[in-house]
Amino acid sequence: KVSPDRSAELYRKALTLMPGGCSRNTVLRSPNPLYAESAKSCYVTDIEGVTRVDFANNMAALIHGHAHPKIVANVTEQLNKGSAFTLATEVEIDYAEHLCSRNAGFGKIRFVNSGTEAVMSCLKAARAYTGRPKIAKVEGAYHGLYDHAEVSQTASPANWGDESNPNSVPVAFGTPEATLKDVVVIPFNDAERAITILDKHKDELACVLVDLLPHRVGLIPASQEFVVALREWTTNHNALLVFDEVITFRNGYGGAQDNYPVTPDLTAMGKMIGGGFPVGALAGRSDVMDVMNPLNDKVLFPHSGTFSANPVTMVAGLTAMTLFDREAVAKLNALGEQLRSQISEVIAIADVPACVTGDGSMFRIHMKANPPKNYRASFADAKESRIRTALVDYLFDNGFMMINTCSGTLSTEMTGKEINQFTQVLLDGLRKIKPLFSS
Ligand code: PMP
Repeated sequence: KVSPDRSAELYRKALTLMPGGCSRNTVLRSPNPLYAESAKSCYVTDIEGVTRVDFANNMAALIHGHAHPKIVANVTEQLNKGSAFTLATEVEIDYAEHLCSRNAGFGKIRFVNSGTEAVMSCLKAARAYTGRPKIAKVEGAYHGLYDHAEVSQTASPANWGDESNPNSVPVAFGTPEATLKDVVVIPFNDAERAITILDKHKDELACVLVDLLPHRVGLIPASQEFVVALREWTTNHNALLVFDEVITFRNGYGGAQDNYPVTPDLTAMGKMIGGGFPVGALAGRSDVMDVMNPLNDKVLFPHSGTFSANPVTMVAGLTAMTLFDREAVAKLNALGEQLRSQISEVIAIADVPACVTGDGSMFRIHMKANPPKNYRASFADAKESRIRTALVDYLFDNGFMMINTCSGTLSTEMTGKEINQFTQVLLDGLRKIKPLFSS
């Protein structure tokens, strides 16, 4: 067992080397992040020797937990053969075939290296296909770091503007004014207002980008009415409909879109389809995907990436997704349903103004009595943030790793046992933080 000060010591050194002491803000915790030693199944052990049940799953990217024996075996075999070449590999074709077989709307597919890159490539493909400059997105939705995709998630309510016509506000200082002008922001699950806004830009919009279960918007499912309205509008105005299924692809065999009576033109994927390795992909209508075809006389969107479709990711992804068959998807979604219902029960028992949202194998606990309907409503003020951090810390100290918004995802390694353990500790945690609601 390592000294409990070891993580603090490492972090002091990390602070001298990286801004904030890390390369991804999500690993930060107060007073210092903990460092991972190893992980197996749904358990992660830190360098202090403490083991926790992992509901964070590398920010929803691990569908089979850690070090799944089949993934480890197949990746090891590939590593021994080489990790990346300036040649294509057969496994890329096998994996493309597998993913396209899961969704009738996936005529063609291309692999990239992250969710950010997948969304960016969809937006660029949409612009190339339509010859139009603008993209529309839901207020507050996170779609990665591409300039246009990251607009409108500011944490300063003063900048939000009118709820029925949200401002196009930057996240990163220095975002060009021109970028903001090319992003049209629509309110979530409000078809009428969204359509009124889209109408104003109808000849300039390349696409509408939507996440069907957006985490930062509150992890509430997009309504059928909203999604159908966006599909009809985009079809009628020759714009494309793009789904960001970077996280939500886990919720259906062919993605969360299986639950909606529409087919998008393009779908961005990432996270779990890499089987634990960095990945992204975009798939959809063959004629749209063809803007990337270098064999065309005129290549509308030249598209490449040094590590795209590297065989390690392809082998890991194909193994993971083959294991995540229809039966596994249904079983995991049922476990998610059970978890959300047990969480609701313990919230009622603890009698605190909290609630749970989510769908499929995803959940989020809000320090609010009622499920928020959009980004503005799900926004946690200073007091709620304080209470939420207290709960996340309690869960962490008692053996459960969460995403810091008090969200989590399930892995196929989990069973009713971990769910029951979690809800028991959650009940204790809710009782502990209860006085904070009235302080
Ligand atoms: N879209 C969504 C919905 C996401 O949740 C994320 C990552 N959290 C991204 C895009 C960006 O993916 P990545 O971090 O792999 O770039």
